Amino acid sequence: MKNIKRILAAFLACAMIAACTACEKKDETTSSTPVESAAVATADTATKDEAAGEIKFATEGKLTMATNASFPPYEYYENEEIVGIDAEAAKLIADKLGVELEIKDMEFGSIIGAVQTGSVDIGMAGMTVTEDRLKTIDFSDSYAKGIQAVIVKDGSDIASVDDLEGKTIGVQESTTGDIYATDDFGEENIKRYNKGNDAVAALVSGVVDAVIIDNEPAKSYVASTDGLKILETSYADEDYAVAVSKDNKALTEAINKALKELKEDGSLDAIVEKYIPAE
Ligand code: GLN
Repeated sequence: MKNIKRILAAFLACAMIAACTACEKKDETTSSTPVESAAVATADTATKDEAAGEIKFATEGKLTMATNASFPPYEYYENEEIVGIDAEAAKLIADKLGVELEIKDMEFGSIIGAVQTGSVDIGMAGMTVTEDRLKTIDFSDSYAKGIQAVIVKDGSDIASVDDLEGKTIGVQESTTGDIYATDDFGEENIKRYNKGNDAVAALVSGVVDAVIIDNEPAKSYVASTDGLKILETSYADEDYAVAVSKDNKALTEAINKALKELKEDGSLDAIVEKYIPAE
């Protein structure tokens, strides 16, 4: 019942790619999902594509990526620099396109608008492919699998997703955790935060009873905070992909081609393994 929307979203994401390998349940510790990329037109120069025309860049010579850098291990600050799976994968994509990578950090809820208006070229932020988002932007092929997880305090009486009924749930604003939980448990039970860490801090201080957030950041928050645990049952299974403007089909095709190569030569797996070592 509650899961119908998520199942549909997962199906839709799978339908976008040639093979449905992304739907297979995988070990949560490896987020890279090898998927067959749709054939793309051959690009014999770095920035041209025969079928879809020329790639447009917000700033010439640069691939400008919008992200929300409080989402470890996909994007977070190490000293002054934004690092993580998305940051490194985007760098390899930019290299293949023959341009520099520039990362712009913003609120998660601003990323789609920035992609849509063309102030950035791509959104890469552990972003889930959803039917609603596909109405306003395009997504590349999926490059990783996401899971919406539930974090509670040790000793909490919440043992499964069904126990969330009537509880106060913390989410990161505009994320799928926010969208689905609002739908399932009611606006009045949801508290929204700009950053995942703020939602977790609210859980620690007892303002919320649970946090619904992507599984890898959840693991990282739980590892760095005493007294929290992740429920064994997940809330939703998702696919992450790169957001691109609907007016930049050539860029989506070039990214799909780059992703296919990075999957085939093992570079994407190597990045994932660096940030999410297999247990
Ligand atoms: N995967 C979630 C979404 O797309 C959250 C992403 C994030 O917080 N960076 O909504």
